[in-house]
Amino acid sequence: MFKTVRGMRDLLPVDAQRMRYVEQVSRTISKLYGYEEIITPVLESYELLAAKTSEEIRERMYTFKDLGDRKVAMRPEFTASVARLVVNKLKNEPKPMRLFSVGSLYRYDEPQYGRFREFWQANYELFGSARPEADAEILILTNNILKKLGLKNYRFKVGHTGILRGILTQEGLDDEKQNSVRQLLDKKLWADALELASNAGISQKGLATLESLLEIKGEDAFQVLEQIKDSIQEYESAVDAVDNLWKILELIQESGAQVDVTVEAGFARGLEYYTGMIFESYVPGLDIALGGGGRYDKLIELFGGEPIPAVGVAQGIDRIVLALTKQKVTQETSTNSVAVISVKDECMAKVLELAAMLRNKGLFVEVAVMGRSISKALADANRRGVAYAVIVGPKELEEQKVVLKQMKKNRQQTVKISNLIEVILMDST
Ligand code: AMP
Repeated sequence: MFKTVRGMRDLLPVDAQRMRYVEQVSRTISKLYGYEEIITPVLESYELLAAKTSEEIRERMYTFKDLGDRKVAMRPEFTASVARLVVNKLKNEPKPMRLFSVGSLYRYDEPQYGRFREFWQANYELFGSARPEADAEILILTNNILKKLGLKNYRFKVGHTGILRGILTQEGLDDEKQNSVRQLLDKKLWADALELASNAGISQKGLATLESLLEIKGEDAFQVLEQIKDSIQEYESAVDAVDNLWKILELIQESGAQVDVTVEAGFARGLEYYTGMIFESYVPGLDIALGGGGRYDKLIELFGGEPIPAVGVAQGIDRIVLALTKQKVTQETSTNSVAVISVKDECMAKVLELAAMLRNKGLFVEVAVMGRSISKALADANRRGVAYAVIVGPKELEEQKVVLKQMKKNRQQTVKISNLIEVILMDST
């Protein structure tokens, strides 16, 4: 018996439906905010994907040689592909440019709850604006998706890469060392991060500042930002970073958007390309981020283009589905589903004709194709939660009529075929 490859999953109808539902809401939001969809390949050159991702992701890429001896890899994230596209084909497009992509990604992670080797993301990127309203838009949009899906009590963990960067740069650490420190902080290995910074030659004052910073976090955003500012006064660009985050959060608050945040001074995201505000979304009881994003003004430059400021977010579709399941959020299902059942074989052509007519009016129609008795066919329709059954028999057909059964109410009536759609639509509204 063949099995799925370790870490790969089959999504059965209920799971597939949930996933597509989240995808559909993500797509609706992309339209509401003016993000245009692009589709890039799952397979890219290894060099592109390895260029600017984190060490951790680089090591976990599915990499192989194709038959033409090219070193290729399955994308572990969208951002490199989007950057490639922007640099090669979209560089002269007017700004702002808002791009949306959705699809599967591949990372050779250790499979566990909420961590899969094949997973789906909905990705939003806003190119061309370095202004705080662009960062605010990405946070508000993410908030909007989670709200529209019906999730409750979700929060955003928010920070700014400029805080740590400001301190470490002024302390003389090069980019490589800074990335290593950031990755340790991302994994919450604080003691290791401090030790690395210390070995890299950070001053005692710098170390003390870092240490105190890691403790600062809280839900009262502006109070926390004041506190951070107090502890980093001597690091000018770190202060600028706090001011930038202040402006973003102030804009959101003053716009009336209900975005609940926890500001964390020591928050770092693993990916190397972030330059500004960073965030992750969470629901209570689920210790893994539903999505994450931030500002990456240097990304396009890193991929060989003219500098273009950018801010974006990746929503983890699989994890959002887990959160919906955990919070028992059920999605609305259509009530306009119909099973069409023939009493006798001779009515089958009429059944197909009626099914086509109902579908043309937008109803979801299943034809009974097993040749079962009426009672068995009805029981089967019931089991699958179909709202109506249309029973087509020779006697009723003589008068251009059929029997319509409302499954939930267990009521049935004889209806003229010419009135059938009207009766169903009247009943279902
Ligand atoms: P990242 O690209 O690492 O910033 O991740 C963004 C989002 O993608 C995360 O917040 C998760 O929701 C999702 N994600 C990342 N890795 C995985 C994985 N291995 N399995 C499922 N979801 C993932």
